[in-house]
Amino acid sequence: MSRSTVVTLLVTAARLAAQDTPLDAFRANIAAIHARDRAAYLSRYLHTPALARVGPDGLRQGYDDFARGTGAGWPDTLVATHLRIVPVSPDVAYGVYRYRVVDSSGSARGVSERVFVRTPAGWRVAVTTAFPAASVPPPPMALVGGTLVDGTGAAPLANAVVVMRGGRIACAGSRGACPVPADADTVSAAGKWIIPGLIDAHVHFSQTGWVDGRPDALDLRDRYPYEQVEAELHATPERFYRSYLCSGVTAVFDVGGYPWTLELQERTARSTTAPRVVAAGPLLSTIDFWLNLPDQRQFIYMSDETAVRAAVRAHKAWGAAAVKVWYIMPPQPPDTARVSALVHAAGDEARKVGLPLIVHATGLWEAKDAMQAGARVLVHSVWSGPVDDEFLALARRGGTIYVPTLTVPDGYRQVAARRFERDLQPLACVDPATRAKALATDTVAPAQRPSAAAVAERSARTARTLAQGLANLKRVHDAGIPVGLGTDAGNPLTLHGASVFAELEAMQAAGLKPVDVLLAATRTAARAAGAALDSAGTLTAGAVADLVVLDADPLADIRNVRRIALVARSGEIYTRRELEYR
Ligand SMILES: [Zn+2]
Repeated sequence: MSRSTVVTLLVTAARLAAQDTPLDAFRANIAAIHARDRAAYLSRYLHTPALARVGPDGLRQGYDDFARGTGAGWPDTLVATHLRIVPVSPDVAYGVYRYRVVDSSGSARGVSERVFVRTPAGWRVAVTTAFPAASVPPPPMALVGGTLVDGTGAAPLANAVVVMRGGRIACAGSRGACPVPADADTVSAAGKWIIPGLIDAHVHFSQTGWVDGRPDALDLRDRYPYEQVEAELHATPERFYRSYLCSGVTAVFDVGGYPWTLELQERTARSTTAPRVVAAGPLLSTIDFWLNLPDQRQFIYMSDETAVRAAVRAHKAWGAAAVKVWYIMPPQPPDTARVSALVHAAGDEARKVGLPLIVHATGLWEAKDAMQAGARVLVHSVWSGPVDDEFLALARRGGTIYVPTLTVPDGYRQVAARRFERDLQPLACVDPATRAKALATDTVAPAQRPSAAAVAERSARTARTLAQGLANLKRVHDAGIPVGLGTDAGNPLTLHGASVFAELEAMQAAGLKPVDVLLAATRTAARAAGAALDSAGTLTAGAVADLVVLDADPLADIRNVRRIALVARSGEIYTRRELEYR
């Protein structure tokens, strides 16, 4: 129970007056739930057979029955807002509030009412109701007094107000420009920073964040059968939803996976409990990669031009947000020309059907060829060597967005070294099953452990690759090419949500200013995700109400993005603590 957390949002329930009024009784009633104090809770109800409880099932009556069921399952968190009292007569008052409860099964929202009657012992509840209202947008809320960094590149605005209504930003600006509406509850953001929700433009829901989803990295299929791992991912993507929100990530771009990842787009579009997901669906691959399921493929082999064009048209029919090409070069030159022609065919067909082409290309030649084929987004750094003037000219001409994805090789290195570096990614945001697997890295499969020399060689290679990636990022950014945030989350030890911080910090280490890293993680990442995202990654009137409130200044040091106080998704405000897994 995160009691301190609840109080942060419970502005209206902050104090208990000595005087007994219906409002006092209402506050005491809710406070007893927070305190899990059964006796205090029950003392507020009429001890008569007339006590009425009403919900979607209809009417139930009687105190004794009510008392027997009380205390069996207190919620982990109860957030009560918009608490109002309507006096009906000197001895009767009506009360209503909006609730959100979080427990192990997830989060539920609704409206709850009370009818209070005056008794010689004080005000007592005679009627209580609760009605779920999950499908209606969250009630209007105003964040007041924080420093607004709106993601447009404008200077930070101190003592700002952000009003959220109907899941959108109604107003974001100064106190004068954005008065708090009478029907909104307020949450203080004094001494804090308000930034747009982070957007991770490179994730994979078809991967777990550990080696069980990538048996090509370390084969543990005898203990973690691949088909079972994938079935679980398909069945419960929710665990990662919470990890993302907990890490301040309110939208993600899944750039390759099994066909079901496309379903997440519709399911999360207006969600308040999941990040917005846009997805590219199965990848088109220049090599016939084996890592597929018996009945479905995440890698569609680009065998010939007919197959390539058909696959692109299929993506359009499936509702994919983009076409992703996995551009792996064959070693022999005749094949190079053949493969290049197929990538260009993919780009041509994508243009015809109106889908953006996004490309995985880590070699300079392939990256340039991908841009010539029309790539709108490069989802990896060029690792093979320094980017050259031709690369920069192609990127500039095509308006290509460069998503450097710097830290994912380090996850593979940690697997090879059998040492999970747990301080890089906050485990509080990681679901218990994924956390247990990550922590098992150090002891897993000792027989397949590489030699000390091999581990050292791997570490040196990863360090060289990262150094090349950092240098190329700086060169690309300085040349004015737009840069977006992407982690490649889902790959081994690149954890969903929690990996975002190390990636931000790597971008800062490349020499980008914190403000530029923040813009990469919001405005430019939104552009990389494309029109399907329906968000500019900024906090302006009309935008989706996805934001993060930080306890420290992200423009002073991007590491301060780790210090999350609150996260809002579609206007629903969560404290960081209630999103954590305990
Ligand atoms: Zn990837």
